[in-house]
Amino acid sequence: MKILVCVKQVPDTSGAVAVKEDGTMNRAAMAAITNPDDMNAIEAALAIKDQNPGCKVIALSMGPPPAMAMLKELLAMGADEGVLISAREFGGSDTFATSQILAAAINCVGLEKEDLILCGRQAIDGDTAQVGPQIAEKLGIPQVSYASRIEKTGDTLRVRRALEDGYMTVEVKTPCLLTCIKELNTPRYMTVRGILELDGKPLKTLGYDDLKDEPLIEADTIGLKGSPTNVFKSFSPPVKGACVMMGGSGKEAVEKVFELLAQKHVI
Ligand SMILES: Cc1cc2nc3c(=O)[nH]c(=O)nc-3n(C[C@H](O)[C@H](O)[C@H](O)COP(=O)(O)OP(=O)(O)OC[C@H]3O[C@@H](n4cnc5c(N)ncnc54)[C@H](O)[C@@H]3O)c2cc1C
Repeated sequence: MKILVCVKQVPDTSGAVAVKEDGTMNRAAMAAITNPDDMNAIEAALAIKDQNPGCKVIALSMGPPPAMAMLKELLAMGADEGVLISAREFGGSDTFATSQILAAAINCVGLEKEDLILCGRQAIDGDTAQVGPQIAEKLGIPQVSYASRIEKTGDTLRVRRALEDGYMTVEVKTPCLLTCIKELNTPRYMTVRGILELDGKPLKTLGYDDLKDEPLIEADTIGLKGSPTNVFKSFSPPVKGACVMMGGSGKEAVEKVFELLAQKHVI
């Protein structure tokens, strides 16, 4: 049994976001981190592995060569293999092309009956939450999004999905894809033993030549040319006005809102 975890290296947006003159994010000026939701996906995979001896966890990432450092950290946390998908032909991919390439790489690694694919819910830079569901569609396997609890018994998973106002529990057969949220778990740290064992763990790169014969890889379905969407304009919306927080009980807050509206002659 394998668990393939899709992980993306993203700029750390928890502090100040560096912005270029044209309004786009200055990625070179910001530290690179593993996408937070993907850390929850890795932890979920490692927790299943802890309960299922013989299970193999493979971290897959599409990105430029520096993403290799992130994969090494995931191996030191306990993942068994790292695969970096990297080629000039893949650059500039939107979510459609990204999921096309990741699905092709998963086919290349091989998907069997008991296997599971885990993704984060969304990446903090692109923020679309489209890649996971698109990969499942392209592989023709079931998907469950917003996983906040996962229980595995044989080829069946019981997954609790977080909804806006509650939870939904669904059962799904493997192979399937889940997208993971923060609530699922607390990611573990790398261990000293994990760091010492790094050298023995496989870490490979899949380039264009490795994937070009996969049916999903066509010149018009990958990279910038194969991306049906592109960014037309990127900007920060103008600040409209200062926000006023109303403290106290609900009743007191409503009274203050009416007071303010009356002062401004709105009512
Ligand atoms: C400023 C900006 C504008 C963009 N505009 C568009 C646009 O207009 N149209 C469009 O389609 N895309 C757009 N993107 C998305 C961009 O092309 C992507 O970063 C990429 O396609 C992944 O999408 P995402 O970041 O939204 O991932 P999400 O769909 O939010 O990611 C969900 C999960 O998929 C997996 N995943 C995503 N990317 C990778 C990866 N490279 N390797 C491994 N796993 C991965 C991770 O598990 C992740 O948690 C934009 C990105 C940026 C930064």
